[in-house]
Amino acid sequence: MVISLTGNPNCGKTTLFNHLTGSNQYVGNWPGVTIEKKEGLIRGKRDLTLQDLPGVYSLSPYTPEEVITRDYLTKEQPDVILNVVDASNLERNLFLTLQLLELGLPVVIALNMMDLVRKSGDTIDTGKLSQELGCPVVEISALKGEGTEELLKAFSAARDSHQETPECFSGEVLDSLQAIEALLSSRVSNDLLRYHAVKLLEGDVKVQEALALPDEITVQVTSITQDLEDRMEDDGESLITQQRYELIQQLSEAVHKKARATGKMNLSDRIDSIVTHRLLALPIFALVMFLLYFISVTTIGTMVTDFTNDTLFSDWIAVPARAFLESVKVASWLIGLVVDGIIAGVGAVLGFVPQMLMLFFLLGLLEDVGYLARVAFIMDRVFRRFGLSGKSFIPMLIGSGCSVPGIMASRTIEREQDRRMTIITTSFIPCSAKMPIIALFAGALYGNSGWVAALAYFIGVLAVVLSGIILRKTKRFAGEAAPFVMELPPYHLPRLVNILRAAWERGWSFIKRAGSVILISSVVLWFLQAFGVADGRLMMVSDNNTSLLALIGGLVAPVFAPLGFGTWQSAVATFTGLIAKENVVGTFGVLYGFAEVAEDGAEIWARIAADFTSLSGASFILFNLLCVPCFAAVGAIRREMNSAPWTAFALVYQTVFAWFISFMVYQLGTLMQTQSLTTGGILALLCFAAFLFLLFRPRSQPRHPALNMAKAR
Ligand code: GDP
Ligand code: MG
Repeated sequence: MVISLTGNPNCGKTTLFNHLTGSNQYVGNWPGVTIEKKEGLIRGKRDLTLQDLPGVYSLSPYTPEEVITRDYLTKEQPDVILNVVDASNLERNLFLTLQLLELGLPVVIALNMMDLVRKSGDTIDTGKLSQELGCPVVEISALKGEGTEELLKAFSAARDSHQETPECFSGEVLDSLQAIEALLSSRVSNDLLRYHAVKLLEGDVKVQEALALPDEITVQVTSITQDLEDRMEDDGESLITQQRYELIQQLSEAVHKKARATGKMNLSDRIDSIVTHRLLALPIFALVMFLLYFISVTTIGTMVTDFTNDTLFSDWIAVPARAFLESVKVASWLIGLVVDGIIAGVGAVLGFVPQMLMLFFLLGLLEDVGYLARVAFIMDRVFRRFGLSGKSFIPMLIGSGCSVPGIMASRTIEREQDRRMTIITTSFIPCSAKMPIIALFAGALYGNSGWVAALAYFIGVLAVVLSGIILRKTKRFAGEAAPFVMELPPYHLPRLVNILRAAWERGWSFIKRAGSVILISSVVLWFLQAFGVADGRLMMVSDNNTSLLALIGGLVAPVFAPLGFGTWQSAVATFTGLIAKENVVGTFGVLYGFAEVAEDGAEIWARIAADFTSLSGASFILFNLLCVPCFAAVGAIRREMNSAPWTAFALVYQTVFAWFISFMVYQLGTLMQTQSLTTGGILALLCFAAFLFLLFRPRSQPRHPALNMAKAR
């Protein structure tokens, strides 16, 4: 028996899924976390398969998930729909429930978050709700694991019984629906008649196409719809929505007894009145993010990282390893490979694991208590001003862990332009793998200060906003961002075990990468930098400036010379960063001799400080933050864009944007420092002028008038 979990975003589907199947899917306290169908067997009931679907508010055709969900439910037809309803938001959740009931499949309603409802003193008459909706309703708390036994019992009962769908519609709307149903009756199965009639009356193009009705029927359907719309002076979709909400209103009045007079503030509301305050919200957000990065990159993170870098990987591993290999008389190239290649490359990356764990932990904490959901809400006000949707900020918040799920989370965005823009800009937000680059340079050049990382984050946000403005003004991205509706989940105490587990899992996948891709690329890099061509023969070189790698890196280095970092080492590091961003650090580990720390503590820092000034270091960080992300993220961009030209546009845009920003920063910085105008300085001034033009020129008119999305909600 296949049971599909459906419900609004953030109503607890994944929590319930994890509880019932014993699996470990990511539970996020904001909408849009589950973006792919997940499947699992229910514990102790091997014949029950449970599927976790992405959350949707409705079965309209506006977001990819809504289309995926409804296509799945109508075509694959699971045995039972398990509709998770957030009981603390009953009315809004029932909107989807009413639509699910029209699909002709058995529905079981899990009234989730009952712990919250009980705590607030409210009561919900489940018996009555069940009677009105014509399907079983079970009170549960997925979080506390309450009520799940009863839920399991309800499944088999539901599959074997016939459910009577409640009538949502009345009057002329119902007449029109019935007229359409009569036209469809020979083409659609009885169970799905109502669903299709509603969709046609709503003018749902996707359903029209899928049905492929003969012209004469289409004409009749159109005239029925037109007739109704003329008489009621409203469009079909609004009429349907209105009648659904009328029914929900009645239902809710009948079953939901509220203890608290509406309008009174509870603790969450009071916190929100400060945290989302018009003036205070942004400073609080900036402070919180600053602390987040400051704490992860300096304090505890640095202490452990210093230990792992200076003591663990050099004194305790590299030095004894070299001594041991020398004592057993291993060939010197092998010693080089093991100590200067593998230990240096992998060690340089692993050294940053503590900082990363700290970052994951703090991000998890902020998310779980409910603060990050507020951030999306706050940023909506800022973003809106620049024609971006606050909804874009959720992918970006997710992207501060890793860009891949961030880019995938852009699926929740309705308008294609907004979605594309989000996909292009999400990786500007520094993901955790970029943290080691920042931390390495902060250590070598900027006195190890934590503000560098925080600054990088805000630069990422700024890059998003600037790109938003520039792209919005082009024809392809013109138009207003769709309105952003998101209810804020109540604050709750963090669940430390969950957060620690999630942080560890993300940290662990990072460690695994160090043991696989970083290891392999360290080996390859070591060989390339140890061998060179002399007298027409391949041989080991003592100075890696004459190596093959120096030759290859030297070919591309001129591209970066105007940005201030034209050495072959930085060129190579930038390219290996495409494999995984932390590989930049691994590469410097191999090329600058991370394992050679021994006496004075930080050989790699000294080498970086010698090759970079604080200005060219900033330019290097900027370029590596903003340019094309790693291959995994490029893959995600490709999948989400679902178009080769758009993918190419995204990658080119990111790289060109990164190059010009770094160019301007380095050249204008140099100009200010030296007070003398060079060719580079002049070109940078011209670029800056062009950049200002792109930012401030008037908008071009949209090619297609924007869809009126507000109506859909
Ligand atoms: P999904 O988007 O529907 O998959 O929702 P999630 O399972 O990711 O949960 C969203 C948030 O609601 C998380 O912070 C959960 O911890 C919380 N949550 C889920 N079920 C319950 C519940 O029964 N009671 C309470 N208080 N919180 C819950
Ligand atoms: Mg989920």
